[in-house]
Formats: sequence, C-alpha cells, structure tokens
Amino acid sequence: MRVFSGIQPTGIPHLGNYFGTLINWLKLQNEGHECFYSIVNQHAITVPQEPKLLSQNIIQMAATLLAVGIDPQKSTLFVQSDVPAHIQLAWILSCLAPMGQMERMIQYKEKAKSDNTANLGLFSYPVLQAADILIYKADTVPVGIDQAQHLELTRILAKKFNNQFKELFKEPQTLHTQTTKVVGLDGTAKMSKSKNNYISLVEDEDTIWKKLSVAATDPARIKKSDPGNPEICNIYSLHQLFSNQKDLDWVVDGCINAKIGCIDCKKQLFKNITDFLNPIRERYEALIQKPNEVRSALENGAKKANKVASTTLQEVYESIGFKY
Ligand code: SF4
Repeated sequence: MRVFSGIQPTGIPHLGNYFGTLINWLKLQNEGHECFYSIVNQHAITVPQEPKLLSQNIIQMAATLLAVGIDPQKSTLFVQSDVPAHIQLAWILSCLAPMGQMERMIQYKEKAKSDNTANLGLFSYPVLQAADILIYKADTVPVGIDQAQHLELTRILAKKFNNQFKELFKEPQTLHTQTTKVVGLDGTAKMSKSKNNYISLVEDEDTIWKKLSVAATDPARIKKSDPGNPEICNIYSLHQLFSNQKDLDWVVDGCINAKIGCIDCKKQLFKNITDFLNPIRERYEALIQKPNEVRSALENGAKKANKVASTTLQEVYESIGFKY
C-alpha cells in the first residue's frame, strides 16, 4: 500500500503531535508500507513566515522525524519544495477545481474569518494538498477528521481528471488512524504550541520537570489529604500514555484514597516521560550537530520522490496535450 502524508515545519513537534500523527507514521512505516512523508514548506507559507526561522524549522523537523524513528531506508522523507511536480500538478488541478466547492472549504472559511490577511495560497491550499497525494498515486492518506473534506476534494479532482483526460489517478482512501488527543499541561483539552502548554519531543529534563511541577491537576485536591479524581486530571491522562499498569493502579489508588500527593504522582510521570523522551532527545542532538547528514537524508528522499513524481507529471502532461 502506498501512503502519503505531510507535516508542516512549525518547529519541533510536541507530545500531542507524536500521539496524533507521528505514531501513525511510524506504524505505517514499520508495517512495511511504501510511505512518502513530506515536510510541507509550501503549505507553511500560506501564513507569514520569517525566512531564517522557516529554514531552521525545516532542519529541526527533519532531525526530529529521524530521531523518533522515521527511517530513510524504509520511508521516503523529503521537503515538498524539493519536488517541483507538486506545484506543477497543483496548477493543473486548480484548473479543474470547481470554485463553488473551493469556496465551501470549511478550514479556509474558518481561517479567513479569524485572519484578515488570508491570501490566495491559503484558499487554494486543498488543491496543493490534492496534488501532494495524487502525484504519488497514493492509495491512502492518514488524516484527522478535520482534513476529511480536503481528501474528498482530492477524490473529486482525481475523478474529474480521469473522466476528462485519461484514467490516471487512484482515488485515495482515507485511513482513519487512531489519534490520541493529548491534553495540555494547563488542563485544557489539547496540547498546543500557541497555548504554551506542551512538552516538546526534545525537551531537556530540567524543562520537563519545570513544566510538570506547575501543571494543572484535579482542582479539588488542594492538599495531600484531599481525595482526588484521576479521571478529570490531565496528569493522569499523561500517565495513561507513558506508564505501565502497575503505575496506573498506584496513581488511581493513591489519588482516590489520598495516599499520594500530586508531586509524588508527577515525579513518577516525569520518570516515565523522560525514559521515553531521553533517547529521542539524544538522537536529535546528535543529528542537529551534523545538519549536513540531515540535509543529505532529505536530498536522497527528494531524489526518490522526484523519480515517482516526475513520471506521474509526464503522464499528466501527455494526457492533457502538453506534449508537442
Ligand atoms: Fe492528578 Fe495525580 Fe494529583 Fe491525582 S494525584 S490529582 S492524578 S496529579
């Protein structure tokens, strides 16, 4: 099965990104599927970017992906702008995209509402996304529910092209992967950079403890003798991601029966999180010291991606009459 997925270079991913996206990337890779994973910098510039920071974010994202286990021997990892066929196909697809449908794209409408600097790139973003997928004739795309409408557009564009010109594209299927929403350290429903309530995948131990030590807990537990409710506590929900059954039982019993304090609970979580993150951070630090190795992995990925993408583009050009 051929898979395409992209991630924006928005700085180093956090635990929410790991459990929401990267864990599925790793699973698909390790199941032996043919995975094309792209750092989608062309999507990133649909909102303003500081050039120096963007280029740094690309390298940091690539180093993090390699550090968590994306293996360039197994998966094709590349930067979107290194494969020009994405944009070239996007133009052709944009000439097939019905305006009415484009105007109904919920994500654009929502973003445009909150941002009066919305631009044409943001509007046509779903067409580029369709090109990202179709250029590899991907069978499936792991997407969150918020991207379902965009994938539907991809299928519509594939069908339209096939009907109008030549049966060339597969209609990619949505792979509804298991996504775990990671709660924010402030107790809000979602870990996010904008809320500064996250733990990054390469955070050092001191920073992790600083963040955990002040993280929200069950507000009913003011002192150790107050019984608490783990089910409403974000620290417990993090335990569920990182702790074994013995630790989970210890937390539940200790919290409900006021046998442990929140700091004891957080210390155990700290140990379990750092056991998981320390090897990732160490690999990341080694990679980021040698950015040329990261660049070389991306260049090799782009070579592999270009081979497939340029073949598809030539087929498209032949089908629509660009060959003369
Ligand atoms: Fe949350 Fe743990 Fe405190 Fe219970 S003991 S309220 S689960 S931090």
